[in-house]
Amino acid sequence: MTIKEMERETPFQNALNQLEKACDILQVESDALNIIREPQKTMLASIPVKMDNGETRVFQGYRVQHNNARGPYKGGIRFHPNVDLDEVKALAFWMSVKTGVLDVPYGGAKGGVTVDVKELSPGELERLSRGFVRQFYPIIGPDTDIPAPDAYTNPQIMAWMMDEYSILAGQKTPAAFTGKPVENGGSIDRDTSTSQGGVYVLEEVIKHRFKDRKKPLTVAIYGIGNVGGGVAEILHYANNDFKIVALSDSKNAVYNEKGFDVPFLMAKKNEEGTIAGFNGAKEISHEELLALDVDILIPAALENTITVENANGIRAKMILELANGPITPEAERILLKNNTLIIPDILANAGGVTVSYFEWSQNKSGYYWDSSEVQAKLSKKMKSAYKNVLETSKTYKTDLRTAAYILAVSKIVKAQENLGVR
Ligand code: NAD
Repeated sequence: MTIKEMERETPFQNALNQLEKACDILQVESDALNIIREPQKTMLASIPVKMDNGETRVFQGYRVQHNNARGPYKGGIRFHPNVDLDEVKALAFWMSVKTGVLDVPYGGAKGGVTVDVKELSPGELERLSRGFVRQFYPIIGPDTDIPAPDAYTNPQIMAWMMDEYSILAGQKTPAAFTGKPVENGGSIDRDTSTSQGGVYVLEEVIKHRFKDRKKPLTVAIYGIGNVGGGVAEILHYANNDFKIVALSDSKNAVYNEKGFDVPFLMAKKNEEGTIAGFNGAKEISHEELLALDVDILIPAALENTITVENANGIRAKMILELANGPITPEAERILLKNNTLIIPDILANAGGVTVSYFEWSQNKSGYYWDSSEVQAKLSKKMKSAYKNVLETSKTYKTDLRTAAYILAVSKIVKAQENLGVR
């Protein structure tokens, strides 16, 4: 296969490529492995929504349940115009691997709707969210498949979804969804958990690999939504250890070599809807942001941001993948050859599913934790997962992503073998 053909590969094919790399090293081939190459169940549904103008629009919805050998299916729901079956399959597969890396007792799933939420009124968004639950009600639930937010969904949407599920079930069922508002049974700190989890891993990496570097370390963040905006704020307040020199949203990218006042910039984005025109900021292109000579690059938007087209231009010393699947396998080969350290998504952004697990446990037990308890448990989980991945990478003399796959796939395969082929 030529490089150009490789680059045409889809997110799910990229995910399978990553799996095969780990399997080649592990030298395993089994029925259980054949089972995890494809999702166990896939459901498509048409979701009719009454629009404000009286018309009815029908949206395409998806739920892919990849594997549940280690526990109930778990994974977010994405609302985006580019959502299709292949993307949801890849995201579901990565959830199975992620829950394995973090050792949380779940399988993997993902859902989505092909929609541009920017075109919907709040009422239309609520009707779409409730419609999603009505269509997928037979296959989701607190002990079968527990959704959560992903790109372009949020705690408000989870509240509507949990409410619709509870109406259909005839009883309050908070554990059917995670990422809810705290007032509706959400966990404290779930909103910042993906970003904070990434920072806990980053702190460990710096201790091991960057300890001799001068501080502050420079950071560029590609995508400042829930996850990218969250990490920008956390790093901004981290004792001058970091300087955020570049940020982007889907429309603009900005650079300031002196570093941004991140809370001020985020407030401007919330008020004016743009990060452009900020005092002291130079407008740059998205490609220029990716190629900046910084210590840490954080992709926090969608898949396939770094491809064979731009990989050779990346000058960051380290990439912390907070988005899912931001680097294609062929681009990763180039980056590894150029000695770029990559902290893979299935470890770096796993703080979200970890605090989702905490939320689900709190909902099931009815006993709620404070922030210090959540943070202590999250920090322990993230740091222990990093240590396990690092040790596996040394044992097998391989990169961190392949090591994380080796760890997770071994667990999933064993759990699947214990259940047999069924
Ligand atoms: P979000 O909807 O809050 O934000 C998405 C961000 O990406 C926005 O800032 C948007 O402007 C930016 N973006 C979109 N298209 C872009 C483009 N072409 N170029 C530059 N920026 C672009 O979503 P989120 O929840 O922050 O999720 C971001 C990523 O993190 C996704 O890959 C998601 O799967 C992953 N993730 C999210 C969570 C979670 O808890 N929300 C957990 C793990 C992983």
